[in-house]
Amino acid sequence: MKSRMDQVLGPGLYIVATPIGNLGDITLRAIEMLRAVSMVACEDTRVTGKLLNHLGIKTRMIRYDDHASDADRLRLLEAMRMEPVALVSDAGTPLISDPGFRLVREAREAGIAVTSLPGASAAIVALTLSGLPSDRFLFAGFLPNKAKARSDVLKDLSQVPATLVFYETAPRLCDALDAVGQVLPGREVAVARELTKKFEECRSGSPYELAEHFTAHPPKGEIVLMVGPAPASGPPDEDEVDALLLAALAEAKPSQAAAQVARETGLDRKALYARAMELRGQ
Ligand code: SAM
Repeated sequence: MKSRMDQVLGPGLYIVATPIGNLGDITLRAIEMLRAVSMVACEDTRVTGKLLNHLGIKTRMIRYDDHASDADRLRLLEAMRMEPVALVSDAGTPLISDPGFRLVREAREAGIAVTSLPGASAAIVALTLSGLPSDRFLFAGFLPNKAKARSDVLKDLSQVPATLVFYETAPRLCDALDAVGQVLPGREVAVARELTKKFEECRSGSPYELAEHFTAHPPKGEIVLMVGPAPASGPPDEDEVDALLLAALAEAKPSQAAAQVARETGLDRKALYARAMELRGQ
């Protein structure tokens, strides 16, 4: 069935968000658009083919990612001068840790009409679920793989007065949590997993608590890691930590005192326990 849209759709680039798991999250406008354009540029024709098939749409697909050759991109830009072309990624919003930036930039430079149809993006879904401050946030994509580069990025972001949002993968999550615990102690952290899908979960706590949990229960699926903003007063110094521990030791055993101060400060419970034992011995 032809849609109303193809009567009026001019040439140009139409950026179309697609679901991040639950196929029900496609918008009505996205469906109409994918049906009405002349061509859908996508990261992987098999992945997008499944979505189009599910929607009963037969529009021609063409593979496009940021590794496409200059000649391929130029051909696509030429097509957009003549006809409407949609850009989608495997899931969520194109350009958000997905291909499309160069294409959009060059389309704009070439005077081609560009418009964007909003929809799901894991970063936004995760932030809204996390209970972390959402008035200001910084989306930082994927952390680097290597330990030194990862902690350098976290150090660069340590003064940002906003919730930090990272994309992660299951096998790297515990390393990332350890790095957050070391570089940004005292922060509240949230891990959102499998958003919009059957096993969706969002868990918050200190980086150490979450590392402990996910070491015991290795995560599966897709993950967003969020780090709350620096507390106004910054992480407690050694004297402040000792004062908190001594106060807690007055009422509880070292293990309980360490657990309580870990909750209050986000610091490593095992290190606090060792210090509590030292303080008790003094
Ligand atoms: N463009 C997508 C978007 O708008 O969210 C992101 C694409 S990026 C290549 C893939 C990463 O997004 C995953 O590694 C994960 O961090 C995050 N992600 C995508 N879908 C997700 C989901 N359903 N639940 C949690 N995280 C998800």
